[in-house]
Amino acid sequence: MAFPLLFLLFCTFCSSPSAIYSTFIPYNTSASVVSGKINVHFVPHSHDDVGWLKTVDQYYFGGNNSIRGACVQNVLDSVMSSLFEDKNRKFIYVEMAFFQRWWRQQSSGMKERVKGLVNSGQLEFINGGMCMHDEATPHYIDLIDQTTLGHKFIKDEFGQIPRVGWQIDPFGHSAVQAYLLGAEFGFDSLFFARIDYQDRAKRLQDKTLEVVWRGSQSLGSTSQIFTGIFPRHYDPPDGFTFEINDVSPPIQDDVLLFDYNVQERVSDFVAAALAQANVTRTNHIMWLMGTDFRYQYANSWYRQMDKFIHYVNQDGRVNVLYSTPSMYTDAKHAANEEWPLKTGDFFPYADHQNAYWTGYFTSRPAFKGFVRTMSGYYLAARQLEFFRGRSGVASKLGVLADALAIAQHHDAVSGTQRQHVAADYALRISIGYKEAEKLVASSLGFLTESRSSTRQGSISTELEQCPLLNISYCPPTESISSDEQSLVVVAYNPLGWKREEVIRIPVSSENVEVRDSNGIQIESQLVPLLNATSRVRTIYAKAYTGHFPSEMPKYWLAFSASLPPLGFNTYFVSVANQTGSSSILSLVHTAENTKARTVEVGPGNLKLRFSVDSGELTHFINGRSLVHCFLKLKFLISNLGPSPCFLQASGAYVFRPNGTFTVKNLGQVPSTFLRGPLLDEVHQQLNPWISQVTRVYKGKEHAEIEFVIGPIPLDDGTGKEITTQIKTTMKTNKTFYTDSNGRDFIKRVRDQRTDWDLEVNQPVAGNYYPVNLGIYVEDDTTELSVLVDRSVGGSSLVDGQIELMLHRRMLHDDMRGVGEVLNEIVCVLDECEGLTIVGKMFLRVDQLGEGAKWRRTVGQEIYSPVLVAFTKQDASKWMESHVNSFSGVDPSYSLPNNVAVITLQELKVGEVLLRLAHLYEVCTLSNVTDVVNVDSFLSNLFIQIGKVTELSLSANQKRSELEKRRLVWKVAAKEEESKVVRGGAVDPDNLVVELAPMEIRTFFLNFDSPQIYVS
Ligand SMILES: [Zn+2]
Repeated sequence: MAFPLLFLLFCTFCSSPSAIYSTFIPYNTSASVVSGKINVHFVPHSHDDVGWLKTVDQYYFGGNNSIRGACVQNVLDSVMSSLFEDKNRKFIYVEMAFFQRWWRQQSSGMKERVKGLVNSGQLEFINGGMCMHDEATPHYIDLIDQTTLGHKFIKDEFGQIPRVGWQIDPFGHSAVQAYLLGAEFGFDSLFFARIDYQDRAKRLQDKTLEVVWRGSQSLGSTSQIFTGIFPRHYDPPDGFTFEINDVSPPIQDDVLLFDYNVQERVSDFVAAALAQANVTRTNHIMWLMGTDFRYQYANSWYRQMDKFIHYVNQDGRVNVLYSTPSMYTDAKHAANEEWPLKTGDFFPYADHQNAYWTGYFTSRPAFKGFVRTMSGYYLAARQLEFFRGRSGVASKLGVLADALAIAQHHDAVSGTQRQHVAADYALRISIGYKEAEKLVASSLGFLTESRSSTRQGSISTELEQCPLLNISYCPPTESISSDEQSLVVVAYNPLGWKREEVIRIPVSSENVEVRDSNGIQIESQLVPLLNATSRVRTIYAKAYTGHFPSEMPKYWLAFSASLPPLGFNTYFVSVANQTGSSSILSLVHTAENTKARTVEVGPGNLKLRFSVDSGELTHFINGRSLVHCFLKLKFLISNLGPSPCFLQASGAYVFRPNGTFTVKNLGQVPSTFLRGPLLDEVHQQLNPWISQVTRVYKGKEHAEIEFVIGPIPLDDGTGKEITTQIKTTMKTNKTFYTDSNGRDFIKRVRDQRTDWDLEVNQPVAGNYYPVNLGIYVEDDTTELSVLVDRSVGGSSLVDGQIELMLHRRMLHDDMRGVGEVLNEIVCVLDECEGLTIVGKMFLRVDQLGEGAKWRRTVGQEIYSPVLVAFTKQDASKWMESHVNSFSGVDPSYSLPNNVAVITLQELKVGEVLLRLAHLYEVCTLSNVTDVVNVDSFLSNLFIQIGKVTELSLSANQKRSELEKRRLVWKVAAKEEESKVVRGGAVDPDNLVVELAPMEIRTFFLNFDSPQIYVS
C-alpha cells in the first residue's frame, strides 16, 4: 500500500513545482458552535485514578513507573503550558486530590496565571470532588463529604462552582448519584461511560444515550439531571488518540515531507463524526480527547487538535471546536429538545454476557467495613469538635477527612485496587483516625470537665477509646481491679434522637457491677466469650498494635445505656462489694444437654426458635406484632468460574459463579445457648472457618447476627465466595428492594430490567445489586428486612429468600486491568494467613408496611453507633466533680426519628455547617412521610443562632442562587408526574425547618454564643 501513495505525492510535487514550499501555518482554532452543522465538541481530558495500580502519591509524582508510566504532575505541568500557548485551547480537570497536590507547589506567579485560565474558561473544574467516587459501595454521607471538600477548595482558591458531574469510569451508576450528588449539587448535567452492554446496544439503536434522569421517586422532577452516556467508552473514536506512543496517524501537513495526509485524515474525521451523529440527538456530539493518565506531554494532543479544527472546518462538512462538558450541555439545552426520561439506576453493569461487575460490591470486605466505621466516627468527631469549640485553631480532623475522601475513589472502597494500594488507603485512614481519636478524647474530656472549668484551661481527664472493641480487645475495660477506682464509661450518642442501647465491653472478672450517673446500680449481664472470638483477637490485636494482647478476658459485660440526643451519659463499672449485687452471669447450655427438640431464645418480644437436631434457626416470632415466620439461615460457598484463559473468571470486579454448595453444620461443635436478662445469644461454629453468633436483645425486635469468616481455604486452587442466605416461605413474586448508597430503596425484579428486555446469561451474578443499608422482600402480609454494617452484594434469587455475599478470596484475575488476584493476607511476625472478617447483619420480620420505619431508624443507628470512651477514677468523686450527662440540644428535645443530623461541623469561629436529612421516602408509611417540621431543633441547639443561610448540598453556593441558575429540561414523559413536595424556605424568626421525604437540607449557621445543656 505504501508505494502507490508515495508515487502520487511525488507526482504532485512534479506537476506544480511553484507550490512546493513549507512555512508556518497559523492554525485557526477559534471555532465556536455553528448552527445547522454537526458540531464536534473536543473535550480534552485525562482520567487520573486517585490510586489503583499505584498509590495516589505514586501516580502524582511518577513513582513506581515499572507498574505503569503515569505521572499526574507531568499532566498538569504540560497542560498548563499548552493552554498558555493558545487561548482557544481548553482542558477539564476532575480530581481535586491531585490538583491540590500540584497547586500547593506552584509559585504565586504561576497561580495567578492558572487563575487566569480558570477565569477565561480555558481550564474548567468539573465534578470537583477529591476523587471520582465509586457509586456502588460508598455511603451517601461519605460522597457528600468528599465532594464538599473538593468544592470548597475550588471555591476558596478560584471562586468557581462546578456545573457538571463527570463519573466516566465507575462500574455502574446509582440513583443517588443522579439526584443527590448531581442535581442537589447544582450540576446541570452528568456524564459517564459504563452501562450494561445490552442497555447500550438498545440506546444506540433508539438514540437514547442522552436522557433526563430522575433518580428519586420522592423528589422527582425537582431533582432531575440531564445525563449523557458515551456511545462507547471515555476515549476518542478509533484513530484519534495522540499520546506520545499512540499509533493513530497524526496529521502530516508539511508538503515537503512524505506521507502528507490532510485530506485523508479530514475524511476519517468526518466519517467518525457522522457515525456518532447517527446515534445522537441534536447536532452536537462530544469527543472525549483523552483517557487514563493522558496529556503527560500535552502538546502531542493539542498539536493534532489544532490541526483538526483548522482543516476540518476548512473542509466545512462538519464543525469542530475546543469545548468542555459545560459548553456541550449548554448547546444541548439550547437545542430545545425533549429528552427521554430515565428512572431507577444503572446497576448491575456487565461488559460481556459472562462478565457482571457485581463481585466488587463485596471485594475487600474488611476495608469496606473500616471505611464505614470511620465514616460514622468522622461524623461524631465533627460534632464533638464543634461542641468543644475550636477557638480559631485548625480542625484536627483534616487528615481523616482527606483520607476518607480519597477512599471513596472508584478503585478504593470498591476493592478493585492492587494490594499495596489498599494498604496505602488503610494507612491514610489510620493516621487520620489517630488524630481524630485524640480530638474526640480531648473534646469528651473537656465536656465532662466544663462544669468547673471556664472552657479554656487544660484538660486533666484522659479518656481512652477502643477501636478494636469489635474483636473484644479493650485494655482499659479488661483490667477492672479491686482498688477504689472504677471504670468510667462515657457513652456518646451522635444521633439527634434519644436512644437506648446495650453497651458491651470485655471484662476479666465476674464480680462487677454497673452504676448510672446518679450512682444507682443498673441491671447488667455477663456473657462468656467463646473460642472464635479469641482466635481473631489474638491474631488481629497483634497485627494492629504490634504486641500480643494480655490474657483473654472471660466475659462481655453488657448493660443498657440511655442516651440523650447529640450527647453523652456516664456509667461506672466497679468491683461488686456486696454479695448479690454483681452482674448477672448468663445461663449457658448446649444443644447436647437439652431434651427438647427446639430451643427458643429472646428475653423480650422477639423469640427465635432453633432446631436442636440441625442447629438451625427455624422461626422468627414477635409477640408484640404477632409476626410468626418460618425462617432458615445458612451459608453458601460459590465455586468460581472457569480460569481466565478461555472464559471469564471471578475476580476483584467480576462475580462469575459456577455452582454453589451449602456449608453443612456437621454437628461436630453443638450450638451453645446463652441466656440473661438483657440479651440471649446462640453461638455456632459452622465449619472450621465460619462461625456466627445470633443475638437477641430484650429491648429490640430484630436479631443481630455476628459472623466470623476466614481464613478462606484455597485447597481447591481457585478460591471461594461466601454467601449467607435467609430463607422464608414468603411469596415475593421475584421482587426485592435494595438501597442506593444507603438512601432510597429501589425495586428490583429478578431477571428483569426496566429499560430493556434482559437476555439472562448469568442468573446469579446478573441479579446481584449493591447493598449499603439493607435489602428487603415483602408479600401480602409480611416484610423481611436485612441491614448490613458495610457495603456488600446481595440479591433474592428465589422467592422468599435473601442472600448477601460476605467475603471472597480467589486465585484468578478477572482480566479487567488490576492484574492481581484478590487474595488478602494478614501477617503477624512471619506467619501469614488469609484474611478473616468479623461483621454484623441485622434481621427483622414485620407486618407489611411496618418495615420502613425500622430500616430507617435502626439503619441510622448502625451507621452512627454509640461512641464509648473510658477512664479510671473513684466513681463518687467523678460524679461530684464532672459533668455526667451532656446534650448538644435541650435534653428535653429530641429530633423525630425520621430526621438525621448528617453534618454538624464548625467551619470557623461562629460558623457552623448543618445538614438535616429526612430518612423516609414518599409512600412508605402514611403518617411519617409527610413534610416534617423540625420546629425547635435550631432554637434548641447548643448555640444562639444569629443567621441561617440555606446552601446547595456541597455548601458552595446559596440554594436560592442554585435554583435561579439551574437549567430546565424538557422531558418526553409518558405519564404526568404526581405532585412533588419540598420543604419551604426557613423563616429567620422562628427557625422552623421543613423537610420533605428524602430531602436533605444544608445550612450555614452564624452563631453568637454557645449554651451548654449539662447536668
Ligand atoms: Zn478510573
